[in-house]
Amino acid sequence: MTASSRRSSRSLLVTGEIPYFRYHPDPMATGSVVASDAACACRGRERGYVYTGPVYAAEQLGGRLCPWCIADGTAAARYEAQFCGDVVGDDVSREVLMAIAERTLGFTGWQEEQ
Ligand SMILES: [Zn+2]
Repeated sequence: MTASSRRSSRSLLVTGEIPYFRYHPDPMATGSVVASDAACACRGRERGYVYTGPVYAAEQLGGRLCPWCIADGTAAARYEAQFCGDVVGDDVSREVLMAIAERTLGFTGWQEEQ
């Protein structure tokens, strides 16, 4: 093995690709998810990434959740948290609205456009 091929292999911190968010497909680009070795507050596991966007919950969870717990609804259920604030739409089903509010990453600035 050459030094260059070793360098190109993934860091051990990175445990996998972050989940796909249908309504926020590239959270790394928006800065809502950053690489971090911080342990997730929800499951207590270091996943290599944390979510840094807004969290609407009774507890202070900003920067303490991993995108996996948000993607599968665990964080929303456990903390009664939402991540995108109030989502309103006339021709959107309640199911979709809940998916956006509870299982989609928000990003800073999402709501500042007023
Ligand atoms: Zn987590």
